Amino acid sequence: MAVSFVCTSCGRCCSSLGRSISIVRRVTGRHFDCQEAVRHESFRAEIADEYRGSVPSGEACPFLVRTALDEAICACYQTRPRLCREYRCASMRVFDSGGVERGHVGGRRSLLSDDPILVALWDSGDGENDATWRKRMDAAITAVGYRADWYD
Ligand code: SF4
Ligand code: SF4
Repeated sequence: MAVSFVCTSCGRCCSSLGRSISIVRRVTGRHFDCQEAVRHESFRAEIADEYRGSVPSGEACPFLVRTALDEAICACYQTRPRLCREYRCASMRVFDSGGVERGHVGGRRSLLSDDPILVALWDSGDGENDATWRKRMDAAITAVGYRADWYD
């Protein structure tokens, strides 16, 4: 059973991926022809009505908009490029003793895994600080013979 992923809208993904996205030309008030430099793909971005006045933004990606609560929002989410559609958020990956990936953490502490051992031991540690939680989960993962690789 996979535990559902909760995106925290931190924007780290877009701050990184978005550096490869540039506007080539404005087509209409809400449509932009764009280029993405990783896969070298072109796409036409359509801006959602509520963000029409916010694009291009001053962020790494011209379509990355910040709310008053500092949430990162994609202004062209329905038409975002394949690079963004296929991105897998991961702050940690777990491997078994054979080096096969058994699951990963998306968002803050959401486990995405079909491995029953990993699902059973998972505890998102609500209220626990990150360093303590990481140390505890690392020990639990190691105890079942798995390995955790953490990404900062
Ligand atoms: S196009 Fe949207 S999803 Fe892709 S990097 Fe920019 S803001 Fe993020
Ligand atoms: S997908 Fe991950 S990195 Fe991107 S905004 Fe959501 S939690 Fe942050």
